[in-house]
Amino acid sequence: MNHLNAQQLRYLQELLDVQETSTRIRARLHILEQADDCDVADVSDARTVMELHELNEIEAARQRMAEEQYGICVDCGCPIDYARLEANVTAKRCLECQNVYEEGDVA
Ligand SMILES: [Zn+2]
Repeated sequence: MNHLNAQQLRYLQELLDVQETSTRIRARLHILEQADDCDVADVSDARTVMELHELNEIEAARQRMAEEQYGICVDCGCPIDYARLEANVTAKRCLECQNVYEEGDVA
């Protein structure tokens, strides 16, 4: 069972939808923007990379929802605070594990 209730899950799912739509619009806009001033869209462009990454994260979050793993920290298995998920709907780690993960990333 999930620590999130059905209403919270539904709301988070809507947030995911909104985030996906806005990310897709941003990606499209800036591909158009690029087509305007150069020949082809460059997928290695930093913004495109970020948008693709975001879309992957959204897809992964949906997958976790489908498997009822959403909102569970992938590292320690603890439930992630609803407030944290609301602020960062694709979060897959609790705050403590995220901090550890990011510190490890720097090194
Ligand atoms: Zn954790």
